[in-house]
Amino acid sequence: MKSVTVIGACLAGLYAARALRAQGYDGRLTLVGDEPHLPYDRPPLSKEFLTDPATADGSADPAGEAPLALTDAEEIAGLDAEWLLGTRATRLDTRHRAVHLDTGRVLTTDGIVLATGAAPRRLPGPAPAGSYTLRTLDDAGALRADLARGPARVVVIGGGFIGAEVAASCTALGHQVTVVEAAPLPLVPQLGEKMAELCARLHGDHGVALLTGTGVRELRADGDGRVTAVELTDGRLLTADIVVTGIGVRPATDWLAGSGLPLADGVRCDAGCATPIPAIVAVGDVAQVAGARAEHWTSATEQAATAVHNLLAGRTVRTHRALPYFWSDQYGVRIQFAGHRAPGDVPRIVEGSPDDRSFLARYERDGRTSAVLALNRPRPFMRLRRELARPSHATTG
Ligand code: FAD
Ligand code: NAP
Repeated sequence: MKSVTVIGACLAGLYAARALRAQGYDGRLTLVGDEPHLPYDRPPLSKEFLTDPATADGSADPAGEAPLALTDAEEIAGLDAEWLLGTRATRLDTRHRAVHLDTGRVLTTDGIVLATGAAPRRLPGPAPAGSYTLRTLDDAGALRADLARGPARVVVIGGGFIGAEVAASCTALGHQVTVVEAAPLPLVPQLGEKMAELCARLHGDHGVALLTGTGVRELRADGDGRVTAVELTDGRLLTADIVVTGIGVRPATDWLAGSGLPLADGVRCDAGCATPIPAIVAVGDVAQVAGARAEHWTSATEQAATAVHNLLAGRTVRTHRALPYFWSDQYGVRIQFAGHRAPGDVPRIVEGSPDDRSFLARYERDGRTSAVLALNRPRPFMRLRRELARPSHATTG
């Protein structure tokens, strides 16, 4: 293989580039990214980037020395890659293995790594000034600047990860926060009802109103086009100076329409991150690997080595078997989860207490632990996570 092009130049794209060089690939390497920044870390954007002045100069500058940068000038030089930043891939011609760019340039390439991540879902209708989604550094910079204008009534739409973390950050900044969640309880798909309920209590602990089981009809704006209120589907009207919407994402596959790649909730891949079209692999939020799509930092980084190995081998010789893991920081509490929880698995608290917002729980199925959850119990959590990751674990309380 003489040339590889990575589309999407952020977390999974960077890890793929690293894996290529680490696995001995010495051909031409090109990374295409539609953001103007070198790879940077997204998790802080809903957390300390909003609250901590130390990350205030968050721009991932070309030298790679900003607080959120995932790489630095030395690594960039070592990767010996062409970085086409601020450049969007608009079409993939799989027959000629040609990537069309919005600059008009067409890259023909031997191998392709798809790493375009995901884009926020948006509410229907216009988005007035003062309303935000949160995916990119630029999104977070704009939100942070608005939050810095003084005490505000913030309405957060969606009580998932973005919603909970932004609500916690805004509260820490002294804003008055309301969270609106369509489901009866947030985070049930990820944690199950019982544990989701314990996590939802964190909002109330910190004076944040959590309104569940209601959607949003529209955002109201004043004559200048600035948001003033959120009208709910149940008729309630919430006054708002700032609105943040975190209602999930969709994998960034629009540009792949008509490419012949199977697209259904992401780019469908086998267990080795390989698509059915030879020499094209997918990693990170955009990849549906063996039927499942993860939207978390750790999987984006772990998939890269497997995908690249198979890309260079020309077929799937290795599969991705890592244990799913994510964390979330909300109101000073670190939530950590690992494993394969299925509906019906029974959570059992084995250490600590929900009342202290500090505990460790095992999810059990047929006498075996399927997953583990911790609130502010990082050490025992990591021990159990390691145990679960062993191929033949058979742990019970
Ligand atoms: P991305 O990081 O989205 O990178 C994809 C890149 O491709 C982007 O730069 C995008 O602009 C670019 N791109 C898209 N389309 C094109 C195109 N056509 N041409 C060129 N470039 C394109 N996970 C956790 O586990 N824990 C956390 O605490 C956590 N916090 C988060 C907080 C926030 C605010 C967000 C947004 C995410 C958080 N995540 C967290 C999720 C984690 O950041 C993602 O899973 C991870 O970023 C996925 O990496 P990726 O490289 O697949 O996608
Ligand atoms: P999310 O975690 O999927 O949560 C979205 C929530 O919004 C869901 O509870 C959803 O309910 C609800 N919702 C959907 N439509 C709504 C509406 N119209 N009104 C009110 N609520 C609505 O997505 P997210 O919080 O937007 O996060 C975006 C991405 O960033 C995800 O990939 C996430 O994994 C990632 N992220 C991860 C972390 C972390 O791992 N710590 C932190 C931040 C972001 P239903 O389920 O009923 O649709």
